[in-house]
Amino acid sequence: MYACSPHWKADWIAEADASIVVSHFKGHPMGVTGGAIKNMGIGGMSKRGKYVTHLSRHPKYGPNRVGFHPEKCKGSACPKAVSCVEMCPVEAVQVTKTGIIWDKEACAGCHIHCFLAWIQCPEGVYEGATEESFLAFNAAMADSAWAYVKALGKDRVGFINFAVDMGPVCDCLPFGDQPIIPNLGAFASKDPVAVDRACLDMSMKVQGVVSSAAEDFRVLEPGTEKFTKTAVPTMGGMEVSQWATVNAGAAIGLGSKEYELVKVDPAPVGAHRPFYKGHHVAWFVKRSFTEIATDPKVWKPDLRIPLERLRKP
Ligand code: SF4
Ligand code: SF4
Repeated sequence: MYACSPHWKADWIAEADASIVVSHFKGHPMGVTGGAIKNMGIGGMSKRGKYVTHLSRHPKYGPNRVGFHPEKCKGSACPKAVSCVEMCPVEAVQVTKTGIIWDKEACAGCHIHCFLAWIQCPEGVYEGATEESFLAFNAAMADSAWAYVKALGKDRVGFINFAVDMGPVCDCLPFGDQPIIPNLGAFASKDPVAVDRACLDMSMKVQGVVSSAAEDFRVLEPGTEKFTKTAVPTMGGMEVSQWATVNAGAAIGLGSKEYELVKVDPAPVGAHRPFYKGHHVAWFVKRSFTEIATDPKVWKPDLRIPLERLRKP
């Protein structure tokens, strides 16, 4: 099992004889869900691969291409001014007495300030990423996952998704939330698209958990898109389709959305994964971004898959 952490070595994976990708299927603040495809498409990538997959300085979908209104900033008198500057690994942000200066050319596109600090700016300095940005990122994850499978060979990769304790955000955050749906079980396949799609389909069939985010976002009823709706707060208030990553995976040949579900006897319940108690995730990301040289030319300006195709169930 991999993680969003930048400290995994992708060359260990490329040199492996085979790979069983064990994933916790759950909600995710950028991917809408995290399952087999995300585990490979982010967790299985090198630092550079993770960076490129996040489309960080993409000319069209990168977060530093989004609307920024420095004239609204209250300057160093604002109580949040320190956090607006401190975490930038390349010192691309300055808060002056009267406002804020963001050097977009120096920006490495690490997402940290844009997503975690400015998005909470009471003056509305930063508009946040667009729905199209999130869709494009989710398509890029499927693309990266395809690279993972190609590197090893399709017949040498298998997938197990544990669809249990499915909160609305991922495990790398230093906090958790009530599961939004009951435990669905473990899903296994040699097709990463099919295994993620099966988890999503099953999540549609069940009742949501009362007093969880599923109730807050009125997706308790079977037939509702639990992950699309409960990810809204982390998507800057937008609904981003929970189907985008599997749709992209099917479109590029990573796998198929068609599958046959074969039920087996339930396995014994295992121990829960303990909460992560170390540094905040931003600390690790800051470290990794101080080591990466960035060049926006690595991205093509347009997606190969129309956005409309990514949104459909
Ligand atoms: S939170 Fe907003 S107003 Fe305050 S320093 Fe940051 S950008 Fe400026
Ligand atoms: S914190 Fe990251 S996204 Fe924000 S300006 Fe610095 S490099 Fe760019």
